[in-house]
Amino acid sequence: MDEKKMSWQEMIKVNLRGIRLIYSLIPWNMFLTVLYVVIDVIYSYWSYFFLARFVDDIVMHASRDVLLTDMLLLVVGQIVVNLLFKSMQMYYFYGGSNVWEEANAYLDQKLMSMDYEYMESETIQNKRRDIDAMARNNGGGLTILFWYATPVIERALQMLVAFGYMIHLISRCNIAFSGEPWKILSFIGGFILMFAILLFISMKKNQMAQEKIYQYNEENLPKFRQYNFYLNEYIGKEECGKTVRMFHQQKLLCGRTSNLYQKIHENINRISKVDQDRSQWVEAIEVSISGLIYLLLGIMVLKKAVTIGSVCMYAGCITNFLWHFRMWNSQWVELVENTKYVKMYFDFLDIPNQKYQGTIPVEKRDDDQFMIEFNHVSFRYPGSDQDVLKDFSIKFRIGERLAVVGKNGSGKTTFIKLLCRLYDPTEGEIRLNGIDIRKFDYKEYLSLFSVVFQDFKIPALPLGETIAVSSEYEEENVRAVLKRVGLGDLLEKMPQGLETPLYTDFDKNGVDISGGEAQKVAIARALYHDTPFVILDEPTAALDPLAEYEIYSKFDELVGSKTAVYISHRLSSCQFCNDILVIDGGKAVQRGSHEELVQEKNGLYYTLWHTQARYYQEAQEGC
Ligand code: ADP
Repeated sequence: MDEKKMSWQEMIKVNLRGIRLIYSLIPWNMFLTVLYVVIDVIYSYWSYFFLARFVDDIVMHASRDVLLTDMLLLVVGQIVVNLLFKSMQMYYFYGGSNVWEEANAYLDQKLMSMDYEYMESETIQNKRRDIDAMARNNGGGLTILFWYATPVIERALQMLVAFGYMIHLISRCNIAFSGEPWKILSFIGGFILMFAILLFISMKKNQMAQEKIYQYNEENLPKFRQYNFYLNEYIGKEECGKTVRMFHQQKLLCGRTSNLYQKIHENINRISKVDQDRSQWVEAIEVSISGLIYLLLGIMVLKKAVTIGSVCMYAGCITNFLWHFRMWNSQWVELVENTKYVKMYFDFLDIPNQKYQGTIPVEKRDDDQFMIEFNHVSFRYPGSDQDVLKDFSIKFRIGERLAVVGKNGSGKTTFIKLLCRLYDPTEGEIRLNGIDIRKFDYKEYLSLFSVVFQDFKIPALPLGETIAVSSEYEEENVRAVLKRVGLGDLLEKMPQGLETPLYTDFDKNGVDISGGEAQKVAIARALYHDTPFVILDEPTAALDPLAEYEIYSKFDELVGSKTAVYISHRLSSCQFCNDILVIDGGKAVQRGSHEELVQEKNGLYYTLWHTQARYYQEAQEGC
C-alpha cells in the first residue's frame, strides 16, 4: 500500500470519486440519502421545538384548544415524521447493504476485462485480494464511505441547527446580563474556549486512535488474505478435499487456520481497547461544556431572559449538539483514514490495459485462407529475466493439423498464449496473412480461435449455456456437437436435457460430471464456436485411453476444415498429425511428420519417442 501521506485536496478528490462510484452503482439510493438526511434533522428538532411551545403554553395558562393543538403537533407530528423516517431508513439501509456486492461485481468486471497478463501477476491479484480482505475485515473502502459520509453530512446539519439555537440563546444574554457585558463575554469566551479544547482533544484522540486501528488492520491484512485462502480456496474446495483426506491434512490445516484466527482475534481485541480508550477524555470535556451551558440557562431563567419551555428546547439542542459532535468527530476521522482504502479501489480500477487493441478488421475470407507466421519471436514473462521463447519462427496455414510437442516447461502453452494475444512478444512479430496481429481489432482477432486450455474450467451452469456460452442458442447445434465429441449418451441421461445444470454446487438438480466428461464438454464448447482455428492444449489429459483413442480417431471429423493446433507432451497422441513441431527450451528445433522425425536419430523427437516408448513397454511388462 502507498504509505505516502495524502494531501487534503487528494483526499477530497478520492472520496468524491468514491461517492460518485457508489451512486453510479446504486443510483436510486442518492434520492433516498438526501431525504433520509433532511427527515432525520427535522425529526430530531421537532420534539424540542414543540415541547418548548407546549410547556410555555401551560405556564402561560393557554386555552384548551391551543394546548390540544400543541399536543397534536408534538405527538402526531412526531409519529408521522418517525414513520416516514423509518420507512425511508429501511430502503436506505437496503441500498447500503448492496454497496459491497455491487462494488465487488464492478471490481470483478474490471478483473475479467484486464489484459490477461495481469491475471498472472501476483501483485495485481493481491491488490484485488487486499480490497476484499479489508472490506471483509472492517468494511474499509466503499462500504465505510457509504455508511459514514451520509452521517457526517447529516450530523454537520444537526450541529448547524443546534448552533443556530445557541446563537439565539447568546443573543438573549443581553437581557439576562444587562449592564454587565463582561459576564456575557466570559460566558461566551468560556464556551468558545471549552469547545475549542473539546474539538482539539477529540480530533487528536480520534485521529491517534484511528491511526492505531488502521495500523492494526493493515497488520491483519496478510493474515486475513491467508485465512480467506485456506477457508475459501482450499478447505472448502471439493478438489482439495481428496488431498486433505489422503494426506491427513486436517490437523495441519486446522492448526494453521486457528493460529491465524488467533492472531487476527488478538488484533481485534487491541482495536476494541483503543476504541474504548479514546472516548474518556472527550466525555469529560463534554460534561463540562454541558455544565457551563446549564449554568447559563439557569441564570437566564432566573433573570427571566428565557421561558421555561425554551430551557427544554435549548437543553435538548445542547445535548443533541454534543452527541452529534462526538459522533461526527469519530466518523470524520474514520472517513479520513478510510480514504486510503477507497484509493485502493481506484489504484486497482485505474490499472490501464497496456495491450494495443488494434483497429484493422479481420478479413472474413470465404476460402478461410489464413496463414499464421511467427517471425523471430522472443518472449519473456513480465518480471522475469529469462526468455521462454527464443527467436521462434514457424508458419502454418488454415486446414493444417499442427501438433506441438516438447518436454514440460519447454514453452508450448506460452506459444499458444502468444498466438491468442494473451501476451505480446517481447521481440519479433506474429503475423496473420502477412500483417502483425497487434494491428487487428483485438476482439475480432480473438474470435478466430477456440481454445481448450490445459487448466480449463467448466462453470456450474446449464449444459446448453455452458457449450454456447450464452443463454440463447440453437439447440440442434448444441446437441450435434455433444454427439460429435461422444457425449450423446450423457445428454440422453440428463434429466432436463440441455437445461440440466452441471454440478450440484448451486442446484440440487444438477448433475456432477467426471473429469473426462468435463474435458469433452470443454472440447464441445470449443467446437460449437465455429472458428477457423481450434487449439487443444493437452486435451486428453483427463481422458481414459479408450476415450482418448475415440477423440484421435475422430479428430479429422471433429475439426473438419479448421486449422487445429494440438499440444501434447505425449508423443503417441500426436502421430495422427502430419505436421509435428518440436519445441525445446523455447526454440522450434524440429518439424516434420512422425515418420520423418523418428528417422532423425540425433533429434530430440527420436530421443523422446524412444524414451516414452520404452517407458510404456516397461510399464506394460511390469503389469
Ligand atoms: P509447457 O506448456 O511446455 O509445459 P509453459 O509454456 O507453460 O511450458 O512454460 C514455459 C516456461 O515459462 C516455464 O519455465 C514456466 O515456469 C514459465 N512460465 C509459465 N507461465 C509463467 C508466468 N505467468 N510467469 C512467469 N513464468 C512463467
